[in-house]
Amino acid sequence: MKEIPRATARRLPLYYRYLHNFKNMGKTRISSSELSDAIKVDSATIRRDFSHFGALGKRGYGYDVEALLDFFSRQLYQDRLTTVALIGVGNLGNALLNYNFKRTNNIRIGAAFDINPEIVGTVHSGVPVYPMSELKERIQEMEILIAIMTVPEKVAQDTVSELGEAGIQGILNFTPVVLDVPEDIHVQNVDLANELQTLIYYIGNRNGNNKKKNSSN
Ligand code: ATP
Repeated sequence: MKEIPRATARRLPLYYRYLHNFKNMGKTRISSSELSDAIKVDSATIRRDFSHFGALGKRGYGYDVEALLDFFSRQLYQDRLTTVALIGVGNLGNALLNYNFKRTNNIRIGAAFDINPEIVGTVHSGVPVYPMSELKERIQEMEILIAIMTVPEKVAQDTVSELGEAGIQGILNFTPVVLDVPEDIHVQNVDLANELQTLIYYIGNRNGNNKKKNSSN
């Protein structure tokens, strides 16, 4: 299948989650406008997203919840367990190990890596911490393709090279660094400070903080 737009890919987990809810409510069929009301994405976008996957529904009939759920489940590999690695067991890394996606059935952090000898060899929230020197070996042994990166900013880019050499194909980047990656590695950035700054910008503007400052000049 040819690659779908990134924005569509980002909505897939949302579709999947809400279809689950609809199924649990006993719904067997759903229209794009019902789905649109639930997930607050306009129905034209939903139809366009779904059209990337071919004919998933019939005009005037809507979508079959079970069939759609089954389809998205396979698209998102939710019909199997995905084990991921975590690199850098600091404050954020530890929080993620402790969280370990328990509310999501099919994702688990199975191995963590660090360079600090005091951390290496310990077990955090049930996850073993291995030295970076064993990255390739462990990752290949456990058939891990995705890594969560919570290392310090200054080593982020070098870590990408190590991950690439180990065979990692996807990185969830929690560092604020804009990473240079080869074409065969996908990156999703999660910059929490950035998200908060964006919120601060919106709220500040709404409350006229900037205006007040300017008018006092
Ligand atoms: P956080 O940024 O999560 O709050 P922190 O402030 O506790 O973490 P950092 O200095 O950011 O600590 O380091 C995060 C973790 O990454 C530490 O456990 C550190 O030992 C580890 N680390 C540092 N350099 C590397 C590296 N090159 N490869 C792997 N892990 C590393």
